[in-house]
Amino acid sequence: MNRLIDSLRLICGDVNVLTGDGLTAYERDWRGREHGKALCVVRPGTTAEVSAVVKTCALAGAAMVPQGGNTGLVMGSTPDTSGREVVINLQRMNKVRHIDPANATLTAEAGCILQHVQQAADHAGFLFALSLASEGSCTLGGNLASNAGGTQVLRYGNTRDMCLGLEVVTAQGDVWSGLSGLRKDNTGYDLRHMFIGSEGTLGIITAATMKLFPKPAAQRTAWAAVPSVQAAVDLLGMAQQQLGAGLTGFEMMSQTALGLVARHFPTLQVPLWQDAPYCVLIELSDTESDAHAEHRLEQLLGAALEKQVASDVVIAQSLAQSRELWQVRESISSAQAAEGLNIKHDISLPVSAIAEFVKQTDVALAYALPGVRVVNFGHLGDGNLHYNIQCPEGADAAEFLKAHEPAVNDMVYKAVMSFGGSVSAEHGIGRLKVDSLPQYKDPVALQLMRNIKQALDPQKLMNPGRVLLR
Ligand SMILES: Cc1cc2nc3c(=O)[nH]c(=O)nc-3n(C[C@H](O)[C@H](O)[C@H](O)COP(=O)(O)OP(=O)(O)OC[C@H]3O[C@@H](n4cnc5c(N)ncnc54)[C@H](O)[C@@H]3O)c2cc1C
Repeated sequence: MNRLIDSLRLICGDVNVLTGDGLTAYERDWRGREHGKALCVVRPGTTAEVSAVVKTCALAGAAMVPQGGNTGLVMGSTPDTSGREVVINLQRMNKVRHIDPANATLTAEAGCILQHVQQAADHAGFLFALSLASEGSCTLGGNLASNAGGTQVLRYGNTRDMCLGLEVVTAQGDVWSGLSGLRKDNTGYDLRHMFIGSEGTLGIITAATMKLFPKPAAQRTAWAAVPSVQAAVDLLGMAQQQLGAGLTGFEMMSQTALGLVARHFPTLQVPLWQDAPYCVLIELSDTESDAHAEHRLEQLLGAALEKQVASDVVIAQSLAQSRELWQVRESISSAQAAEGLNIKHDISLPVSAIAEFVKQTDVALAYALPGVRVVNFGHLGDGNLHYNIQCPEGADAAEFLKAHEPAVNDMVYKAVMSFGGSVSAEHGIGRLKVDSLPQYKDPVALQLMRNIKQALDPQKLMNPGRVLLR
């Protein structure tokens, strides 16, 4: 294996092949569930270098772990503990290659930090519509490989929907130059969709051409206390009817989730959380003006109060206030982490089934595990809940997880399936859910996935053991 490391040094330069201790940022997953051990971390700076690195690893029979910002939540981007996997970190490939204003597209390298892509689009007078709480660290390649969702899926779709073309280094080290900016191209199988969401198991994305959107003239954010999950769903329906394409965000947060934010971030103002079991955050992007946006939100919320689907409402009066509301929403994950280890579920359901799912599953969990805290929040507009389970107040979180995690997962996932949902809405499968996927995925779909893997990566060296069992 020393020969492999020497070859990688020749390709990328000594400083870009890291070995030994002190590699925590590359080896530890974001949630801190495992500290892996890599054979080495290699940081190629060009597509040609990625290609040479992959060819060399394939020749040596070394497993490769593509990595962007390492913010993934399912242990897909970190090495296992064998000390034999090569982490290929793309962060040096961080150039925005081209913006085509007339075509409304941006072409950037996979290692670009999402926030930098947003800024580049903004400077060119456009909106880059992907936005998530990890945007200061996650990369475009990671977003594509995990088909990230975020806060504006309701209006603009997932990362998949914003991508028009890809450049990919295959598992054999060949370069597929598919950086098309075309919105229509029916010349056979659409290969980009195979690589998007494949979590680095089929090849390495090195660049992408992405859609840009017109910037809204105004954005307004509102916050409403709602008496139940069903009321939140009803309010979502009203918002879709009244705001149409202007509705760009609809987030739901339980009182327990907001209580954790209030406890762990005491400087943040958390509105209305003590008054209702749930609150929702609504974002309107308006094509006319600030005044027009405010008027439309006032009309919506007035009707919601009248119909008693909301019990109290707040409309942000400035961009700063709007940011504060979003900060509360985006602090829930960190507040949960500060509270201690918890059992995470990133699930999706038909919006019409959400209220009944929550009612039945809350009751079943409370019966099975008295005192357990359900930290329920998420992108309600997309039918996506982060239905997380925290141990009872004062209990030992690690002990709780050890004793109850499999049973809790079983209970939640079976309920999800019975309501026609999915056990992974956004975060993917990685290594975290790889064992349980066969239980919840259609067997024919699973076999087709194995066939694709076999065809594209017959040596099974590209992120092995993630998504599909070895
Ligand atoms: C605070 C926080 C909030 C989050 N919010 C959201 C959210 O709202 N919505 C959401 O969907 N996710 C969310 N995530 C999860 C995560 O940020 C996203 O999945 C993100 O898209 C991962 O990007 P990354 O660059 O960090 O990828 P990594 O974590 O480095 O990798 C993720 C996966 O992609 C593969 N990969 C990475 N780069 C490449 C590449 N160039 N080519 C091929 N494969 C590659 C890796 O092998 C791994 O399997 C959140 C995470 C955190 C920590």
